[in-house]
Amino acid sequence: MPNQTHRTDVAIIGAGPVGLFAVFECGMLDMGCHVVDALGEAGGQCSALYPEKPIYDIPGYPEIMAADLVSKLEQQAAPFDPTYHLGQQVVALRGAADGRWLVETEAGIRIDACAVIIAAGVGAFGPNRPPLAGIEQYEGHPPGSGVQYLVRRRDDYRGRRVVIAGGGDSAVDWALSLAEVAESVAVVHRRGKFRAAPESVRRLHELTEAGTVELVIPFQLHDIKGVGGELRTVVVRDLDGNERWLAADVLLPFFGLSQNLGPIAEWGLDLNRNHIVVDPGSCATDREGIFAIGDIVTYPGKLKLILTGFAEAAMAAHAIHPLVHPGEALHFEYSTTKGVPGRS
Ligand code: FAD
Repeated sequence: MPNQTHRTDVAIIGAGPVGLFAVFECGMLDMGCHVVDALGEAGGQCSALYPEKPIYDIPGYPEIMAADLVSKLEQQAAPFDPTYHLGQQVVALRGAADGRWLVETEAGIRIDACAVIIAAGVGAFGPNRPPLAGIEQYEGHPPGSGVQYLVRRRDDYRGRRVVIAGGGDSAVDWALSLAEVAESVAVVHRRGKFRAAPESVRRLHELTEAGTVELVIPFQLHDIKGVGGELRTVVVRDLDGNERWLAADVLLPFFGLSQNLGPIAEWGLDLNRNHIVVDPGSCATDREGIFAIGDIVTYPGKLKLILTGFAEAAMAAHAIHPLVHPGEALHFEYSTTKGVPGRS
């Protein structure tokens, strides 16, 4: 409900994999959480960018789909009864009475917390949009049509004429994958060389030779045309002005993510190249009571991996405990000893 103030132990900004695991770690130390995310669903990059891709470096899971990992993290956090405020960006963070912090969302929700964990990944992220006149009229269409910046379900592209633009891993991986279901797949790239995993590039060339995928190189997107608001043609041009018209039901531009800290940049935290500087032993920022974990942080040796973020969540929770439970000794306990509500 807008203009409502919730009081909690810890406010977590970002419901990506690392923010979700922070709920569990805080819960294990008897600290309740409210979690806010700008996106309409939890999971951060895993849900928004690659839900159907398998991840191979989550300890204990030789292979797990990104969407399944998110669902398991939600299940793991559930016993601690977090409150989620999704689909709203945190726009302000300011000091409140008694050393507490007030987190405010664009929807007018306020969270008064003893401590804040910023797990905001790459910030307010969004796709880099190609500068095509009138592109907005093809955005927001159902999956498999118009202009889409991510593939949620491969099956939405079954029988579709797909034009992919870009030369990185996403462009190459989706060309390989969609070639199995789409009516046609064309890959537009401005250079002959792809910046993707060599094995994937090798397979792409194999599919091209077999006639399953068409490589449209060296060309760049120039225009898009439709009939009655439905995309029909992607026009591409090379540097000499030669033009080709590609029949298309859907254009997938994969030009990377625009990374923008958004409002977080205004909160007076110590930043280094769009990342929050933290103490690697506690994930504390330079403001007392504010912690940061996951992709958004930097410290010597930081690895932008989910597993690293999980460890940071545990460290931050332990560092926050004395703020939420002052004077209470924290006895380190394994989960096997302490158990989890409702499970033990
Ligand atoms: P994110 O997942 O980025 O989540 C941050 C969340 O914070 C987002 O949901 C965002 O909306 C929200 N947010 C930001 N600003 C605000 C705000 N002001 N208010 C409210 N919400 C906000 N990592 C691996 O370990 N293994 C892999 O195999 C792997 N494969 C990958 C493949 C791809 C294609 C990509 C793109 C990434 C991959 N990664 C992989 C990286 C991994 O996804 C990230 O390390 C991980 O998502 C970081 O988690 P996070 O919770 O820190 O941030």
